[in-house]
Amino acid sequence: MNLQINIGQLAGAVKGTLLRGQQETPFNTFVTDTRKLEPGAFFWALKGASYDAHDFISKAMPRLSGLLARQDAVAGAGELPSSVIAVADTLKALQALAAWHRQRFRIPVTAITGSNGKSTTKEMLKSIFSAAGETCSNPGNLNNQFGLPLSLLELTPEHRFGVFELGASRKGDILEIGEAARPTCGIITNIGPSHLEHFGDMETIFETKTELARCLAPGGVLVYNHDDQYLSRLNGRKFPKLTFGRDPAADLRILEGEKLRIEYAGMVLDINLPHSGGHNYYNAAAAAGAALAAGLDFTVIRKGLEHYTPAPMRLEELEINGSTVILDAYNSNPQSVASALKEMTGRPRPLYLMLGDMKELGRFSSHYHTDLGAALAHMGAEKVFLAGPEMQAAADAFLRAGGKNLAYAQNPDAWIPQARELISAGRGSFLIKASRSMKFERILDGLR
Ligand code: ADP
Repeated sequence: MNLQINIGQLAGAVKGTLLRGQQETPFNTFVTDTRKLEPGAFFWALKGASYDAHDFISKAMPRLSGLLARQDAVAGAGELPSSVIAVADTLKALQALAAWHRQRFRIPVTAITGSNGKSTTKEMLKSIFSAAGETCSNPGNLNNQFGLPLSLLELTPEHRFGVFELGASRKGDILEIGEAARPTCGIITNIGPSHLEHFGDMETIFETKTELARCLAPGGVLVYNHDDQYLSRLNGRKFPKLTFGRDPAADLRILEGEKLRIEYAGMVLDINLPHSGGHNYYNAAAAAGAALAAGLDFTVIRKGLEHYTPAPMRLEELEINGSTVILDAYNSNPQSVASALKEMTGRPRPLYLMLGDMKELGRFSSHYHTDLGAALAHMGAEKVFLAGPEMQAAADAFLRAGGKNLAYAQNPDAWIPQARELISAGRGSFLIKASRSMKFERILDGLR
């Protein structure tokens, strides 16, 4: 972060009160983590889920050059640093500064939301943009109410493009950070039952993701999945948009075939994607749509898509002792499992499936796990390994539907040795997938 502003501009941007200090004092960056405080740092006190940085202010104070904190916390804090700004809400202030900073740059900025495929689409678009100029994007997965503003604050005058993913876990989340990003293009990848527990129902997920349309900069384009049963409701609406999908009516149409072919405005683009997975065709088409909206041409789009680096644990294809292992252990939910299973159907047999809980489905959990179990019974897998308390419902449904060769345990440790032995035997295809908290990548430990 190198903001190159002064304390007066900072106070103005966050609508805070300059309690102490000179307007002209330069301000470039700040720290939010007390453990990373170096002498002379400017400290931005935030209240997290488990701690409130305001509790640490008095201890940190002697070492600080400046402080932005809640009004009431400053009052009793004792000796103050040379610059002090007080605000009503320090997270809102962070978002306000990010919004203000973003407006300093007249460049194409794409914001990406959706239930699945955000990171992948971001990496693809980042690769396309980078083929045309310096590009700013979220470091790691800084994509929430706190992370997205921090990501936007990384913008500098060298950047020609910005691409940011926006995460959400409740209604209003996208509106809040989307307004800070004020994108010239918004991508909605799809609507699925991810984080359903927090949202309550699918309608709320749809409403939350589509908040992005209200955050667009004037003339901004919405790029969305034409085939998605929820997003297709937007088809009739009149606003600048580009749709992608297999449906012939989609603007960027994914054509059938072994490789990715996209038809757009009568032209056909052939792309050798470095990563398999049918849903990656959708992610690539979405990225291509945003690139077109930013004024880039097919040559740059192809170059970017053919050179993007897939993120680890997203349908990561590994070869271990001759077996193909598809490691998709980054996360799981009903939509991404369905997509991963589809991906496995064309793989060399025998087929082994190792699946763990799909978390955060709340009251719908047993319903979705039951559906999954029944579907697994008809996959023709040599063996199905299931683990986790939620997967009990899938195991029951699997057996009810006549499925054979099942290993189920509350904890995958019970069957990991057997699974490893199979992988080492050097035949067939393996899928490893579960929600993040299940840490299913450990199934591979010791094999590489
Ligand atoms: P996100 O950032 O939205 O969590 P990622 O790009 O990290 O999504 O991908 C996470 C997992 O979601 C992948 O491993 C894959 O199984 C699945 N996935 C990715 N893109 C899609 C898509 N377009 N449709 C369905 N599932 C997808």
